[in-house]
Amino acid sequence: MSALLPLEEALARLLAQAAAEPIVATECIPAADAEGRVLAAPLVADLDLPPWPNSAMDGYALRLADWTGQPLPVSQQVFAGQAPVPLQSGSCARIFTGAPLPEGADSVEMQENVEVQADGRVRFREALHPGQNVRPQGQEIRRGEVLLDAGTRLGPVELGLVASLGVATLAVRRRPRVALLSTGDELVEPGQPLGPGQIYNSNRALLAAWLTRLGCAVLDAGILPDDLLRTRARLAELGEADLILSTGGVSVGEADFLGQVLREEGELTLWKLALKPGKPLTCGRYRGTPLIGLPGNPAATLVTCALLVRPYLLRRLGVTRLEPLRFAVPAAFAWPKAGVRREFLRGRLEQGRAVLHPNQSSGVLRSAAWADGLVEVREGCTLAPGDAVNFIPLAELF
Ligand code: AMP
Ligand code: MG
Repeated sequence: MSALLPLEEALARLLAQAAAEPIVATECIPAADAEGRVLAAPLVADLDLPPWPNSAMDGYALRLADWTGQPLPVSQQVFAGQAPVPLQSGSCARIFTGAPLPEGADSVEMQENVEVQADGRVRFREALHPGQNVRPQGQEIRRGEVLLDAGTRLGPVELGLVASLGVATLAVRRRPRVALLSTGDELVEPGQPLGPGQIYNSNRALLAAWLTRLGCAVLDAGILPDDLLRTRARLAELGEADLILSTGGVSVGEADFLGQVLREEGELTLWKLALKPGKPLTCGRYRGTPLIGLPGNPAATLVTCALLVRPYLLRRLGVTRLEPLRFAVPAAFAWPKAGVRREFLRGRLEQGRAVLHPNQSSGVLRSAAWADGLVEVREGCTLAPGDAVNFIPLAELF
């Protein structure tokens, strides 16, 4: 039996392959459609944000030099969206949040802190400091600076920033075309009647939704029976894909058709990881097309997609930040027996401690629906309750 490949090494090899085959083509799309896509060029600010100094409060704007402790008359009102006139000296301006500061004013007192007299003049009770409650011009960004780097994945926050610059069209990397193949004689698509010995294909739905979130165009390559000739024929049809992603048919117990076809007509670059679940992961190329074969057990599909397929695809898109957030938390469980494979268990944080789902079978997907994250137990490691384990929130992996 060949030695198991450590996870870090497998990931490093996959990322090197991805970097050597970037998806560089770009397309210009409406920013409103760009969620989950990857910026192809840096987003450079062509204005200051905010474009002018403005008030952070509802209150009164004044020039500090005019403040003597005596009440000041109100010479203008400035609402958000209005253009003020320069501040008359010896006066203050009524001002509202987001309204431009009149020229000459240098600070704002919040309305709760002033006393408006019967004659309308305003007494400022306390000494103010320059710039108080003023958002300076360019506080967020200056014209000419890079707001988002090329290779940034666009989520809600990034799209908010894009809009704040008034940008409505973005250059993004084209979507990777991923051919999704489900292997197994036992599989039936939802909506069809279930025969004896059959189960529904759940991996396809899991991966199709996930890949869409990762900005991929999913080509459903259907269900492939466990048959060498048909495996070969189907793979040959998928040469247009940027990646063939399959599930099942990689364990040695049953017929390992995928591995066999890769060995014969392509290249097997990775096989058998020191990972649980996920050991039989198989990677390579079929007639030049990259292929990743995930194990069929749904929890193994989940773990291997999270740890390997996701970073692989994002790296091909030029994404710079690939590492999911992971943090150490105390384990609420004991792990008396050290394993030879790195385990990723489905768990939750309860009172800051990692709690495991009672059923860690790789065939059970429900544990992952219950879980908030993956709990990492390193190979060769035993744990007592309270020992630190890494926790990776599932939300980081989509
Ligand atoms: P395999 O990797 O083909 O040996 O499959 C391992 C286990 O995962 C078997 O119990 C399969 O029935 C199951 N399985 C394989 N593919 C799928 C799928 N697409 N959806 C649900 N279960 C699957
Ligand atoms: Mg199978």
